Amino acid sequence: MLLPVETSGLAVYVNLLATVASATGLRMPRESVYLDYQASAPIDPRVLSAMTEAYARPSNASSEEHSFGWEAAARVKHSRVAVADCINALPEEVIFTSGATEANNIAILGASKAAPVGRRRILISAIEHKSVSAAAFATEALGFKVEVVPVTPDGLVDPAELASRLGEDVAIVSIMAVNNEVGTIQPVSELGRLVRSVGAFFHVDATQALVAVDVDMNNWGADALSLSGHKIYGPSGIGALAIGFDAPWQPQAVIYGGGQERGLRPGTMPMPLCVGLGEACRLISIAGESERQRVAELRDHLGALLKTTRADIEVSCASALRHPGCLHVRLPGVTASDLLLRLQPNVAAATGSACTSGIIGPSHILLALGMTPTQANECIRFSIGRFSSYEEINFAAECVRSVLAGSD
Ligand code: PMP
Repeated sequence: MLLPVETSGLAVYVNLLATVASATGLRMPRESVYLDYQASAPIDPRVLSAMTEAYARPSNASSEEHSFGWEAAARVKHSRVAVADCINALPEEVIFTSGATEANNIAILGASKAAPVGRRRILISAIEHKSVSAAAFATEALGFKVEVVPVTPDGLVDPAELASRLGEDVAIVSIMAVNNEVGTIQPVSELGRLVRSVGAFFHVDATQALVAVDVDMNNWGADALSLSGHKIYGPSGIGALAIGFDAPWQPQAVIYGGGQERGLRPGTMPMPLCVGLGEACRLISIAGESERQRVAELRDHLGALLKTTRADIEVSCASALRHPGCLHVRLPGVTASDLLLRLQPNVAAATGSACTSGIIGPSHILLALGMTPTQANECIRFSIGRFSSYEEINFAAECVRSVLAGSD
């Protein structure tokens, strides 16, 4: 978001932020554009308002002996329906988690625990989030063998490549719907059909997908699907895992405690966070394709402006279907982390996914696309979303231009 702003929806958002900032003493830079939506999207004011109301109520949805508990349970139920509607699942198939990391872990570890003994192979793509790949590799201590399916230079899992590895001995296949760094959109339904044909358990990490495509768990043939609040203008600290009742088998518990969430995610339900996730999902269902188109136009506008600054700029995975808000580019000869530093405090973008920050070395995703480590370090992800505007994009492009001009 660029301050100050005139646009009405954005003005509401900025006013709200200003209120939060003055209440907390937080100082916002005068002109600062947020283009890191894929790391964490700003919370939608409508979500915040639904949550504020929910926080004012006692929130234990498991308190079955009184009306406060019933009310909290009703709010959780309502939110579960909104989440389910957004991904075409049944409400009873949805369990709330603390985020996508936990959802991915429960799906993979839980499904491996319940897998038939003859199935001991787990397939994941080379560009999965660490919460999928690390959970998958953790099963090797339990006798599973993980195989990494390569992707094309355009960041796609080739269905023929997956098919060549599938067999009746495969327990789980986990493939993300939309990549968090380069934004490529996988042919999920086609992959799902292949996985189902051998009776394996198909898990889809849809964390980045809800704002990018219509998510349809049934049509995708997904047995389990993960999502996260803070990527969809909802709160952080909440996510969900949907597990189809028609999955080849049901995951077993990997966390123990009370019986909440079908015993798979025990612990007191964070009712206000559930309300926030439900409201975020409801808004995604309404915004749908028209929001995606608007965001894609902004992304293409930024791409075109950057191209006028540097003709040699390369858009990653340019010929693949991509997340409408994701512009991942390589600037040959420029060290991306230096450029980002010099863009502060004006433009917030990213060199890689925030969750791998702290992990030294080039992104495994970019290496999987065939980039060299030097090329990978020349890449920046600008991610655009609901509150972005042309004014911000023009400002960001101008900042990049002037920083690059200064480094000539
Ligand atoms: N999967 C993907 C594709 C992601 O982008 C992320 C967050 N970067 C996660 C999983 C983890 O999500 P959370 O932050 O909710 O744990």
